[in-house]
Amino acid sequence: MKRIGVLTSGGDAPGMNAAVRAVVRKAIYHGLEVYGIIGGFAGLINGNIEKLELGSVGDIIHHGGTKLLSARCEEFKTKDGQLKGLEQLRKKGIEGLVVIGGDGSYRGANALSGYGFPCVGVPGTIDNDIPGTQFTIGFDTALNTVISAIDKIRDTAQSHERTFVIEVMGRHAGDIALWAGLAGGAESILIPEEDYDIQEIIDRLKKSYERGKKHSIIIVAEGVTSGVELGKQIEELTNFDTRVSILGHIQRGGSPTVFDRILASRLGARAVELLMEGKGGRAVGIVNNKIVDHEISEILKETHTIDKNLLTLTKELSI
Ligand code: ADP
Repeated sequence: MKRIGVLTSGGDAPGMNAAVRAVVRKAIYHGLEVYGIIGGFAGLINGNIEKLELGSVGDIIHHGGTKLLSARCEEFKTKDGQLKGLEQLRKKGIEGLVVIGGDGSYRGANALSGYGFPCVGVPGTIDNDIPGTQFTIGFDTALNTVISAIDKIRDTAQSHERTFVIEVMGRHAGDIALWAGLAGGAESILIPEEDYDIQEIIDRLKKSYERGKKHSIIIVAEGVTSGVELGKQIEELTNFDTRVSILGHIQRGGSPTVFDRILASRLGARAVELLMEGKGGRAVGIVNNKIVDHEISEILKETHTIDKNLLTLTKELSI
């Protein structure tokens, strides 16, 4: 393999730039040429492709977002769109592709691999919802952003003796809510993977109020219910002064943490090695601090699960 491509796709995540940098530098180190596809699969279909040099990825390791841009592209879900993408790759003489993104992007990579074109998936999403890896690029940074917000909200919650509902990202996966809830000392954590009982939340709030704690933090993942609705319900049922804070897109930005930069560097470099070894149709990940790889098609058959032990622990620690 002489020439590879790299793209970022789907929801952006801090650390994607560090992954692109690793792909480019690792490939050039081993004598390959690298092309960046600008704007995910939409850019691929349109042939928005440019050669990347060592300097193209200089000064980006500490930046959030993705310099290669990201997009959602419905056309790439069709055979027509995929064939157009393949044609663009062939025109440029690109023989393998690194796809950095979430599970939707993995489906795109899997589709290309199905035509015999070698692709390797790198997990880049703040949601931490990709099977085959314990951590995805961007999750740790998003958690740190959420924690910094929770800490600030806690100050004002305490001063005014208020209950705060904090809505975090996670339509289908509760990892951000769960991990941030544990690290932020939340009283209750609502995640899509588990049914919640409003009465249990109310009882918990009242119990801690009775033992003298006049302020509380409740974390809700956006996929469970709206923070605003939950806040209203809690205020009605308790009469506690309640406020709602929706963290929104700040969770997707910011300079990546050390953990995400190193994870991105290791995963990006491994993706290039796999292409050099002629192993397409794979997805890289980290398990017990070892870089691993699996068939993308197998990863796509699995569903992400949350760590039940952490969930139990949050309940034990927030009595
Ligand atoms: P993420 O990668 O963050 O999960 P999306 O689900 O939006 O984000 O997927 C990103 C892009 O991947 C889509 O806009 C589309 O171009 C491509 N994609 C998603 N699903 C498929 C599919 N089944 N086949 C081919 N491409 C897909």
